[in-house]
Amino acid sequence: MTTTIGVPVSLPPLVEPAAELTVDEVRRYSRHLIIPDVGMAGQKRLKNAKVLCVGAGGLGSPALMYLAAAGVGTLGIVEFDTVDESNLQRQIIHGHSDIGRSKAESARDSVKEINPYVEVILHEERLDNSNVMEIFSGYDLIVDGTDNFATRYLVNDAAVLLGKPYVWGSIYRFDGQASVFWAEHGPCYRCLYPEAPPPGMVPSCAEGGVLGVLCASIGSIQVTEAIKLLAGVGDPLVGRLMIYDALEMTYRQVKVRKDPNCAVCSENPTVTELIDYEAFCGVVSEEAQAAAAGSTITSKQLKAWQDENEDIFLVDVREPNEYEIVSIPGATLIPKGEFLMGTALELMPQDKKIVLHCKTGVRSAEVLAVLKAAGFSDAVHLGGGVVGWVNQIEPEKPIY
Ligand SMILES: [Zn+2]
Repeated sequence: MTTTIGVPVSLPPLVEPAAELTVDEVRRYSRHLIIPDVGMAGQKRLKNAKVLCVGAGGLGSPALMYLAAAGVGTLGIVEFDTVDESNLQRQIIHGHSDIGRSKAESARDSVKEINPYVEVILHEERLDNSNVMEIFSGYDLIVDGTDNFATRYLVNDAAVLLGKPYVWGSIYRFDGQASVFWAEHGPCYRCLYPEAPPPGMVPSCAEGGVLGVLCASIGSIQVTEAIKLLAGVGDPLVGRLMIYDALEMTYRQVKVRKDPNCAVCSENPTVTELIDYEAFCGVVSEEAQAAAAGSTITSKQLKAWQDENEDIFLVDVREPNEYEIVSIPGATLIPKGEFLMGTALELMPQDKKIVLHCKTGVRSAEVLAVLKAAGFSDAVHLGGGVVGWVNQIEPEKPIY
């Protein structure tokens, strides 16, 4: 940030002002118009702005409602889901009578009720490689309210490739995070999180829960940042990560630097087009996710069991060549395929706790589902796999 006579100068406004505000709009936005930093020019910029909200769920709900109330002229909504009763504890853009309806349509109706001057564009489809570039290209700014890692990396990479800024947020239980990622002016999501966490390590809100009102705390940061970027006021959250702890009631910031080796936004990127995000994030089947929920242990837990001579049977479900490169002491190699064929089941002891592991936790979660279905209900798998083990317990060993 440069400064002029001691006043922080923000990034240039993202959008040009609309030609005019109508008399009705002037009345509606009067409390904005009398803020010197917004004024007529800022409000006209909001009117001309096109903002896309990815998801009309926990974060998308407050984001869309306040963006609409603020007078953002065009709001896009990407959402393919329908309203479920369990959404209503936090997704306040939907109401009880919307249960079973399209979330996109329900969100549109609420936006229109808040502010009929907003144009709403619905994208009732799952965001994926085939549509993301076309959808994003129609907007000035993206607000990311997604709840899964594959879509987060997709949103990030598409935004970087298109040179678009986006406001990111995430929520879990009592904790929230938010930042602005804009590769032209700062880091991107991959600079902060180069790799997706191993499956099973980070539970979703559906598994772990989320305090409903947390969505408002993080969603309001996202909208605040969106308005600042659109109107070109204030000091945007570029290069800073805001971390909110509702239990402690603290907001703290950490600096996020642009990673000179970032796969997508560095000078020599290795990712120059969209990739397979499900594979990148090690997305596992629903059966495997269900099996891993509550049956995932950490490397430290495994090490403690070994040190205490617990009666465990550690099974490495990778392939022999991987086992040769690096392995966890005491592990027996039985590749995943032998479990899928059923031949490995008779090798499983009945009197020991079975601990499965693979490279990062995807394959072992799948095998865990097989074992549980076969009656080994107390079997567990190692979250993060041998990679996590090496990082935490035996850093001198190689990772491949
Ligand atoms: Zn980056």
